[in-house]
Amino acid sequence: MSDSYFYPQRMGRIIMQAMEEVMGHAGMRAIFNLASYPQFLDNYPPASSDRAFSFETVSGLNAALEQAYGPRGGRGVALRIGRATFVYGLREYGSQLGLMETAFRLLPLPTKLHAGAKSFADLFNHHTDQVVRIEETDLYIFWHIERCPLCWGRQAEEPICHLAVGLLQESLYWLSGGKIFNVEETRCIARGDPACTIRIEKQPIP
Ligand SMILES: [Zn+2]
Repeated sequence: MSDSYFYPQRMGRIIMQAMEEVMGHAGMRAIFNLASYPQFLDNYPPASSDRAFSFETVSGLNAALEQAYGPRGGRGVALRIGRATFVYGLREYGSQLGLMETAFRLLPLPTKLHAGAKSFADLFNHHTDQVVRIEETDLYIFWHIERCPLCWGRQAEEPICHLAVGLLQESLYWLSGGKIFNVEETRCIARGDPACTIRIEKQPIP
């Protein structure tokens, strides 16, 4: 599989900062060894917008989590890393998302979810090689990742893009001012599906 698609270096950096927050420095060392990326130890990518952080690297880090913690443990860790990734990502990209203004914060929840999903998808579609398509019904928002770095080049029986689930969970928590939503990956390219689909219930869990 060739390294033909990329995240900006800054996103690679954000993912590694989030991983380190969840796993600590020793955990990072183990992951970099498992994934055969010793060059990243104590040397994260710069906070630049060049698209040079390959999908293969993102996928390799994700696979190493499963190797280190087992499929179930790896899933839990990846969800936590996804949540932390949102927090770091908001610091870097928050102002350009256009979601920080008071006027936005005061909108009704369904409007915020609709606008937030679009703005978030635009960020990926315009600044990375990841392709996201939003589909919305009365009950759900479907976040279709049509070109996905997390499972890039992998095969699996079950969906494996848990980091994206954690990222969306945390973004919804933030958008709604502290509500919890049902978020589930229902399809995954690694399983042979046409896209990695993350289904979000628009009604928060009471
Ligand atoms: Zn995927």
